[in-house]
Amino acid sequence: MKDKIGIVGAGLVGSLLAVILKKKGFQVQVFEKRSDPRKSSVDAGRSINLALSHRGIQPLKLAGVYETIAPFLIPMKGRMMHDETGKLTFQPYGKEGQFINSVSRAQLNQLLIESAEEAGVEVLFDHKCVDIDFDSNIISFENESSFNCDLIVGTDGAFSAVRKKLQFTDRFNFSQHYIEHGYKELCINPKNGEFGLEPNYLHIWPRGNFMLIALPNNDKTFTCTLFFPFEGSPSFEELTGKAEVEAFFTKYFRDAKTHMPDITDQYFNNPTSSLITTKCEPWHKNRTILLGDAAHAIVPFYGQGMNSGFEDVRLFIEMAESENWDWKKVLPDYSAKRKKDADAISELALYNFIEMRDHVGDPNFLKRKKLEAQ
Ligand code: FAD
Repeated sequence: MKDKIGIVGAGLVGSLLAVILKKKGFQVQVFEKRSDPRKSSVDAGRSINLALSHRGIQPLKLAGVYETIAPFLIPMKGRMMHDETGKLTFQPYGKEGQFINSVSRAQLNQLLIESAEEAGVEVLFDHKCVDIDFDSNIISFENESSFNCDLIVGTDGAFSAVRKKLQFTDRFNFSQHYIEHGYKELCINPKNGEFGLEPNYLHIWPRGNFMLIALPNNDKTFTCTLFFPFEGSPSFEELTGKAEVEAFFTKYFRDAKTHMPDITDQYFNNPTSSLITTKCEPWHKNRTILLGDAAHAIVPFYGQGMNSGFEDVRLFIEMAESENWDWKKVLPDYSAKRKKDADAISELALYNFIEMRDHVGDPNFLKRKKLEAQ
């Protein structure tokens, strides 16, 4: 009988990992604090759609779930920049035929959970992890149940409860940093039953210290995200009334605003969320390990949080397989080997905010990029 593995968090990374481990023959249980997402809506403060790239597609293929997910993806061939007069400039993401994909977070999470269940994984909702005993490998839950496992994986996101318990162990390092910008999601509805903007692009309105972006959805809407400082001028704290919001969008995002006649209602009804980077090490203790945002939450500007979380899963599985599933060896090896890559993408994500909100709007930058691509 193969080991019993307990995964805390049925988000994107946890449910993907569960599918693969189950197919490798392990007994897998996933514990999720939320109720079944198939029966409830997405939490406020989490992005509605995500950019899925080649890095994230490889692990989906490894799990044998890519074919199920592919029909729901919308290819985005490059960035479409909108200047303040509404003039458009296109910048491809790669060579002819290369693209990234827009995908609904809720749909992707649901498909992964369903794939896990179909593979025979037991997914237990309404199980909020509150404690881990690293010596006896016991996970305890708010509902007073507890489970004993041979391996515990914490995939419970940026505010991980598993990581919080690790913070009480000796020589565990942890840091977190909130950037001065937050974000607010807005929606562009279809126009006459069609997409309001060209669908196969990631649209960007770069405005120096802030920006608006838009990714397409399958229902022909676009989810727009305003990345904006909390304080200063202009900022979230300044836009207090309907008149200020109208004037702000007219001044900076005139063409986008024409697609959002209800902009003030959306602005005041939708939540404002913050953006955090977390770092920690080591990612393991005895037979417990962190993967995905629980180990390394990054800002979203490189569109790589989920993609690198999926890559964690692929590398963890490949390493475990090559080390014959000897967790005593795999956990420290994986933790040590993967950490520098996670730190690198974390820095790149912070840098890419400056590129997206500022440099891409600079004609010299675009000329330089064209020359580089030749
Ligand atoms: P999560 O998706 O956060 O899942 C964690 C799960 O654990 C959740 O289901 C949660 O309910 C559960 N949980 C939490 N605590 C407990 C507990 N105590 N007990 C049990 N369960 C618990 N990434 C990309 O690759 N591309 C993008 O374009 C992109 N865009 C983004 C845009 C925004 C605005 C934001 C904020 C993030 C974006 N990301 C993007 C990052 C991406 O959302 C995350 O990296 C990804 O969701 C991480 O997956 P995860 O499974 O590690 O964590």
